[in-house]
Amino acid sequence: MKYFIQIFGCAANVAESERIAASYAARGWTPAKDIHTANDVIIVTCMIRQSAEDRVTGLLRNLGLQKEKGKKIKIIITGCMSGMALRDYTGKMLTQLKRRYPMVDEFLPIEEVGFSNTQLRGDKKHALILISNGCNNFCSYCVVPFARGPEKSRPLENILSECVDAAREGYTEVTLIGQNVNSYGSDLVKEKKAFDAHGDRISPVFVKHLGKMRIPTLFPYLLSQVAQIPGLTAIDFISSNPWDFSDELIEVIAKYKNIKRLIHLPVQSGDAMILKRMNRWYTPAAYKKLVRKIRSAVPDVIFSTDIIVGFPGETKKQFEHTVSLCKDVGFAKAYISMYSDRPATLAHNKMGDPILYEEKKRRWEFLDERINKTNLRKGMYPLYE
Ligand code: SF4
Repeated sequence: MKYFIQIFGCAANVAESERIAASYAARGWTPAKDIHTANDVIIVTCMIRQSAEDRVTGLLRNLGLQKEKGKKIKIIITGCMSGMALRDYTGKMLTQLKRRYPMVDEFLPIEEVGFSNTQLRGDKKHALILISNGCNNFCSYCVVPFARGPEKSRPLENILSECVDAAREGYTEVTLIGQNVNSYGSDLVKEKKAFDAHGDRISPVFVKHLGKMRIPTLFPYLLSQVAQIPGLTAIDFISSNPWDFSDELIEVIAKYKNIKRLIHLPVQSGDAMILKRMNRWYTPAAYKKLVRKIRSAVPDVIFSTDIIVGFPGETKKQFEHTVSLCKDVGFAKAYISMYSDRPATLAHNKMGDPILYEEKKRRWEFLDERINKTNLRKGMYPLYE
């Protein structure tokens, strides 16, 4: 029996697909060469943008046509789409999804993929290690808190033993993954489950959260432990958020040279009012101050970022503020996206999607040219990736 996993979206989905692959392998299944020769097709979905959802729909339609022609395949949906539907306690979303995609046989909850399952890695050098799942932040444009639920951290000892095993197997690179990777452990601290390998309680680091509260994170400790595992020569982490980037984390990065000097630090906008409306409670000035602080402790650091253009109500002047922040920071790379209206979010419910596609595209192209294409011409990427 053969299975095929089609992945959409982020590195968390790739890491989860490796756990799905392992559960199939444990039952004696082998991976199919392509989607057409599989008995089970598992689609790991993404809802971050409408375009990602559209690609899932296109694939499902094709598979549905093959089923109608008599092909025997089982179609399983997991990832954000099933996460969101199965989390809706009214059941309405799941009913809608089933109506929209009658060809799907099973909606698999993300939770069942589970942290504790083993993984069958695709890469032989670079291991993706999930450390947390979910998000408590509710940025006004983002569907992740609805699709993945509240933030849940994986026990520290499990993460460390997975990293040690990966190093023993010959992996030299590790990426620690979480939707808010640097707020790792907040829930463990609250549940009094934050112990090191000797059973001693780990002291959490308290950081500003959304400019209002302070929350505990164990991430600096975790990162320092991973960095000391023999054999790991390159360690990085995605996605970190500015509000959880503590001084202790900066110290750890400065101290261990095997932590990569490319830091992904999403800014989303360079305009204070847009950031506020995005429910990202830092200012452009605070972001730039953080960048300066990291640079002074880690002089060879470079930054990549996420930017949304065409957020509801973003004026040309506000977009110019983003352009100016990018110029000040000098990002090595920017993952730029045109604002996409997502169901259930605050922006969807209260702000609409008033900026024309053509204008979003113009802003996207402008920034892409300024950052990515220019850096590509300078030959920066091979150096840093
Ligand atoms: S921090 Fe904001 S953008 Fe990131 S996953 Fe959470 S809600 Fe989404």
